[in-house]
Amino acid sequence: MQRLEHSIGTRLTLIISAIFGLYLIAVSAIGYVMYQQYQGFSHLASRQFDRAMAAAELTRDAEVIAAEVFEVMVGSRRSVSAGNERADNLANLYKTARERLDELDRLEVVDISARLALDRWQGPFFKSLGQLGQQLESEKMLQQAQLQRLDRIFLLLQQLPLNMDTPELQPYQHRFVSHALAALAVASSALSTERPGHIAQLERTGRQALQQLAALPLQDEASIKVRQKLQEALPEVFESRLPLLKSARATLATARHTRVLAQKLTGATFNYHLQLKASAKQAIAAHQGLIRHSLLGLFAASLALVAVTIGAVMYVRRNIVQRINRLSAAMQSHLHGRWVPIPQDGADEISEMGASFAVFVDARRKAELQLEEMNVHLQQMNTELERLSTTDSLTQTPNRRCFDQQLELEWYRALREGRTLSVVMADIDLFKCFNDTYGHQKGDECLQQVAQAMASQLKRSSDMIARYGGEEFILLLPGQRLEQAVQLAENLADAVRQLDIEHHGSPLGRVTVSLGVAAQIPLPQGRVEQLIHDADNALYMAKKQGRDQVCTGSIGASQSVT
Ligand code: GH3
Ligand code: MG
Ligand code: MG
Repeated sequence: MQRLEHSIGTRLTLIISAIFGLYLIAVSAIGYVMYQQYQGFSHLASRQFDRAMAAAELTRDAEVIAAEVFEVMVGSRRSVSAGNERADNLANLYKTARERLDELDRLEVVDISARLALDRWQGPFFKSLGQLGQQLESEKMLQQAQLQRLDRIFLLLQQLPLNMDTPELQPYQHRFVSHALAALAVASSALSTERPGHIAQLERTGRQALQQLAALPLQDEASIKVRQKLQEALPEVFESRLPLLKSARATLATARHTRVLAQKLTGATFNYHLQLKASAKQAIAAHQGLIRHSLLGLFAASLALVAVTIGAVMYVRRNIVQRINRLSAAMQSHLHGRWVPIPQDGADEISEMGASFAVFVDARRKAELQLEEMNVHLQQMNTELERLSTTDSLTQTPNRRCFDQQLELEWYRALREGRTLSVVMADIDLFKCFNDTYGHQKGDECLQQVAQAMASQLKRSSDMIARYGGEEFILLLPGQRLEQAVQLAENLADAVRQLDIEHHGSPLGRVTVSLGVAAQIPLPQGRVEQLIHDADNALYMAKKQGRDQVCTGSIGASQSVT
């Protein structure tokens, strides 16, 4: 079968492949979009993480600030000023971290309850931190003033004539030094103790020492000056000592309050951190679930489409391609003249094509049958025509033309086979008279009867009788010797006599025939015309010798046999 250049199957396959290709492109596009989404979600998730980390940093900063503050408070060796500065720096660090967290929060829709908790503790904490700083500052000033007083007291101590063994020292001076030392010891104790009861006791002792000093009759300028400074400095020590202690207690209370607030803030920031961490985890889990579901959906859709595509290809192959191929093969077979059944199953274009082609095939088949019938008819007509052309229409015996053809054939056959070929010529006697007497129509009937009677005497298929012309007949008897031919001629004459057709014009009273017989074994140099001529001569002899008889004849001689 010829290979089709643009087969429908190939084109359908290409179309389906194109559809599948398009689907793959679409899936790729969807996949790409999902990947973009994944990126976006990842970004969000990382931002959530950023926020959680920022909250963690905030927690840490709050912890560090609290720890630093208390380190400052507890550490007695460190200067208060340095501690405050550091706390300020940490507070700024906290604020910066908080601002960053707020910036991240602004981009998200978040549950603000945890952040409100931050706001609740953040303000009081820093306010308390500020108060603590101020209190530390004022306490520092009070302590400095106290230290100055202590310095002044120790300067007074240097001015005292402490060497008691000096001979020129007056007795009152001895008492002055001991009272002044007592007063200085009281002052020194008051500056170092933190118990208010002890301070009150020391104040009483100091006042007694000052009274005793005042009672002394001092004469030298230096002692009078020292006593005066002691009388000024000692009350100041006791006056400043209690406020300083109060301030220290207030500072401690503020520090404790700050510590509590710091714990609250730390707890709040840690909670915030936990919440953000949980929400980040939740967002990631939700996104992963979404991606997983999307991918599963995509995978399921892909599988379904692959199945549908395979199903479509199989459907197209079975219901279109194979049917078209079958129809095409059937058409090709019909084209090459082989009849096969034309597929017409289904109810679509292909079955319509099959049905249409079947109509054409039927029409062609009918036309061929008609043509065949016409050919047969034509052949019959030709045969009839040939028969007519070789048959005499009146007597229905072969005509002279047919006889001549057969004579030539038999002549050469006899020549080849070396057999005898006999010829008998028969002529109705006095037939002109018969016509004249009975009419031409009766003459025709007589001709038919005579022909039929003579033909009925022929027994061999190779024997032949023909109308030679007018009322003359001729017989061709292949393979019959002369005596056999004469015998047949006698039989013919008898048969005509048996007809007993009345003929008043004839002396015999009925229709008779005269017959001339000739036989010859053909020779290569011989001529068929001679055989006819001999028979004609013999017929002539029969006529001449009185008719109704058989004569034989040969070259130069004829003789009657009846
Ligand atoms: P003879 O015995 O010598 O043969 O005499 P005859 O009269 O038969 O011979 P002739 O040759 O004189 O006449 C032959 C006649 O045969 C003449 C013609 O009228 C008649 N004839 C020839 N053909 C036909 C034919 O087809 N039909 C009829 N009715 N007559 C025919
Ligand atoms: Mg004649
Ligand atoms: Mg005649």
